[in-house]
Amino acid sequence: AEPLIKVENLVKHFVVRLGAFGERGATVYAVDDVNFDIFAGETLSLVGESGCGKSTTGFTLLNLQKATSGKVIFQGENIVSLDEKRMRPYRRELQIVFQDPYSTLNPRMTIGEVVGEPILFHKLATKAELPERVSRLLGDVGLPARFAQRYPHELSGGQRQRVAIARALACQPKFIVCDEAISALDVSVQAQIINLLLDLQEKYGLTYLFIAHDLAVVRHISDRVGVMYLGRLAELATREQLFSNPLHPYTKALLSAVPEADPELEKTRQRQILVGDVPSPLSPPAGCRFHTRCPIAMDKCRAVVPEWREVVTGHHVACHAVDMGTAG
Ligand code: SF4
Ligand code: MG
Repeated sequence: AEPLIKVENLVKHFVVRLGAFGERGATVYAVDDVNFDIFAGETLSLVGESGCGKSTTGFTLLNLQKATSGKVIFQGENIVSLDEKRMRPYRRELQIVFQDPYSTLNPRMTIGEVVGEPILFHKLATKAELPERVSRLLGDVGLPARFAQRYPHELSGGQRQRVAIARALACQPKFIVCDEAISALDVSVQAQIINLLLDLQEKYGLTYLFIAHDLAVVRHISDRVGVMYLGRLAELATREQLFSNPLHPYTKALLSAVPEADPELEKTRQRQILVGDVPSPLSPPAGCRFHTRCPIAMDKCRAVVPEWREVVTGHHVACHAVDMGTAG
């Protein structure tokens, strides 16, 4: 199948000012040559430690931050090259839900206005049709229609996240980036929001890029999973491939830190503790960026960037130690 979105050699570098007077400029290598496809109707998750570039990847691919270079192809157009005016027709179809909806919901607007605003902006309904449209959207996210009269501060965190989802849905999008969209919620509320996202995906044929650090959640929700480390993709595979046959040493370390639900399996679990901190994205290690923490690093790893390869169908990895065909 043709991908809904193709991300090609995406790069995002920031210049930050350092020194007491900001006299020195330094480059943050936030996203560095990332390549992946997103297929219609799937949930592709991006995981990795904080600062690995997964949120920046989400922002940059929606053209909310300008890419330094690379392409994001959507409906035949490289959207990251478009200015805001030419981007407008695509904005409606490409939505984002953030971790903390409270900071993104205007406190002076009622829930009805919050959800209705994008409908009027994109001329998807008339003013007269709006109340009906808003109550249907609130129903879609499991909130009663009377919530349209309430204000964000009167809602719980989970209810506010439902409003943020309704606002994204109001645009009738094809694609939604969920940027740590459940990370701030209590575990029981997380499960409800995940189930809501999955129901809405089925009902409206939505495609998700799900940015998260909780691998148990990712395992539940994803069709495919990409693992990022210091601005680069380390591995990308189907959920089954990634969880049953991780190939990259970083993925193996991340997975070995996830507790097993079965206490018998938990007893025999092989833990592979990651030593050291993630190096600064201001001066990422040469060669393989994981070499400073990799238990099997070789000389080559310190000098040569490992190539991004598809070692078996659908299973991509960047590691010198992984041989073609050994992935099983
Ligand atoms: Fe480890 Fe080398 Fe593979 Fe990097 S390329 S993950 S350092 S073995
Ligand atoms: Mg983030």
